[in-house]
Amino acid sequence: MADSKIESVLREDRVFEPPQAFVEQAKLKPADVEALYQAAQDDHEGFWAERAREHIDWHKPFTQTLDSANAPFFKWFTDGELNVSYNCLDRHLDTKGDKTAIIFESDDGEVEHISYRELHARVCRFANALKANGLGKGDRAVIYLPNVPQAAIAMLACARIGAIHSVVFGGFSAPSLRDRIDDAEAKMLITADGNYRGGKLIPLKDVADKALSQGGASIEKVIVLKRSGTDVAMTSGRDIWWHDAIDGQSDDCPPEWVNAEHPLFILYTSGSTGKPKGIQHSTGGYLLGAICTCRWVFDLSDDDVFWCTADVGWITGHTYIAYGPTACGATQVMFEGVPTYPEPDRFWKMVDTHQVTIFYTAPTAIRALMKHGDEYPQRHALDSLKVLGTVGEPINPEAWMWYRKMIGHDRCPIVDTWWQTETGGHMITPIPSYTPTKPGSVTRALPGIDADILDEAGKPVTDAGAGGVLVIKKPWPYMLRTIWGDPERYKETYFGMYDAHTYVAGDSAQRDEQGNFRILGRIDDVVNISGHRLGTMEVESALVAHAEVAEAAVVSRPHEVKGEAIVAFVILKSGEGNDELASDLRNWVAEQLGAIAKPEEIRFADGLPKTRSGKIMRRLLRTVARGDEVTQDVSTLENPQILEQLQARGS
Ligand code: ATP
Ligand code: MG
Repeated sequence: MADSKIESVLREDRVFEPPQAFVEQAKLKPADVEALYQAAQDDHEGFWAERAREHIDWHKPFTQTLDSANAPFFKWFTDGELNVSYNCLDRHLDTKGDKTAIIFESDDGEVEHISYRELHARVCRFANALKANGLGKGDRAVIYLPNVPQAAIAMLACARIGAIHSVVFGGFSAPSLRDRIDDAEAKMLITADGNYRGGKLIPLKDVADKALSQGGASIEKVIVLKRSGTDVAMTSGRDIWWHDAIDGQSDDCPPEWVNAEHPLFILYTSGSTGKPKGIQHSTGGYLLGAICTCRWVFDLSDDDVFWCTADVGWITGHTYIAYGPTACGATQVMFEGVPTYPEPDRFWKMVDTHQVTIFYTAPTAIRALMKHGDEYPQRHALDSLKVLGTVGEPINPEAWMWYRKMIGHDRCPIVDTWWQTETGGHMITPIPSYTPTKPGSVTRALPGIDADILDEAGKPVTDAGAGGVLVIKKPWPYMLRTIWGDPERYKETYFGMYDAHTYVAGDSAQRDEQGNFRILGRIDDVVNISGHRLGTMEVESALVAHAEVAEAAVVSRPHEVKGEAIVAFVILKSGEGNDELASDLRNWVAEQLGAIAKPEEIRFADGLPKTRSGKIMRRLLRTVARGDEVTQDVSTLENPQILEQLQARGS
């Protein structure tokens, strides 16, 4: 089925071995990584069982590792009992009680250090407050808070009492919040009066009130954190201030021991490709993934200062703020603000101030900061950094090289981590002391993760350069368990294409000569030009490699002769586009990738439609490029006005 394969036209030969100096100080040495790969290959289940015994404190040990009887509804460690907050807090108290768990920096630059002992006490007090307000095991609480320590505290407090949280990113509108509350039938809403991000007030309580006036009938209590100090309406009998709720509560709260399969949380996907799905995660398997991936992929250890810049409202903030670093007993930075406020060097300044050793961010942030120029990172030493990470979208090789050089000073390995809300933690990514890296390549699947690329008939695509459907062929402990309230959609979305053991991620990928994976984009984003199937990411990367281009998004529209033609939306670093530049860019792409990839049309824009997590929404651009009416759900769009502008500019 050669014609169902995706062709790769981008050539990338730059390979970077793990820097010797890094390898020497790494906790996980190449031989350790080798041993992990070998053990996982020899015995998939046994490998994960051993990891689960090594990294988790079980209240009651499990005797069964994997239960596949009801595939694709897999169960892991199913008769074991544990508590996630116990694993993230209590077990560190003897040895690390005074160690800083969280270094919090607010939008306006105030810094607070919270020790493990203090975090434990605050979580217990809040957990007692939740119970006093009627929340119990299995009940759902929606958390609609800014990226402040209280968000992590609320999550850990829910985990402590066996309640299931659903965090909704603070940038979401009232209808999005309402839909998520209703879908989960949540009993409690935890929010704040408001907060400042980039100096702008976000009126969280007003939005929450609006959401509850349009629905949210299941909500019995609303707990409100005082953060901005703005005046808000408090509904008597329903709303209670956080500080009043914890007043008089004990800082001792015995953990509720739950089954390993007890749902820890629900989290809605970012909605890049359609209606958001309520992804349900487990307790034991999820925790194991958070711990292993922090240790393997970030080489996280006791003397590190880890900083994941994501918001707790995304899966990245769940696994790599609330749970992973705390379960490992690490010190981490948590930041309320935005990378460009008060100036575009905020990240770099914070790296120096807090002596960050591991820094994890998204391509959208890297591209935005790159556009502001080299002088901002150059103001700072950045010499504490050891590992740089990226997640969320394919990273264009040009942005990868900038990150490596300007931020990592050619010294820090870059881990480009491919994973999803559904996968719970990293899946395909370099391990910094071990895996040679390559711009734009997510390299290899982690130990215990069986990734492959299949064609439409289910046959492995083995040719280097050819692309296909990215799949995971064996269950892994930290995978999603179902879509909340919709097991049929779970089966159909993730296991409907091949069989009940083959997880379909929805992304397309290819392999290079060394067997490394490169993500080409969403399956739906592949374009078909005169019978050649191309991933849009490659054309975008070629455009971003042009000196004048800051960002690009590529989609197709029907073409009489070629089947489909490429339309590219281009954001320039500065200035306005014109016909001459458009023609230069078309020729540039043809030179870089070959004539088949030459865009039919270039459209200059001031911005691209993005989800609130910063991902380009190509499905909307496809509609715009075809001149069709937009009927898709745009509730997760961050910048709706951009859409109007793009439509108005269409020819
Ligand atoms: P929805 O499923 O609602 O459309 P979403 O897929 O954007 O939303 P997430 O789970 O936040 O929601 O994102 C996962 C997706 O992000 C992956 O399927 C992939 O397309 C993309 N992605 C994440 N990390 C990487 C990476 N390192 N390289 C390439 N793509 C990535
Ligand atoms: Mg998705």
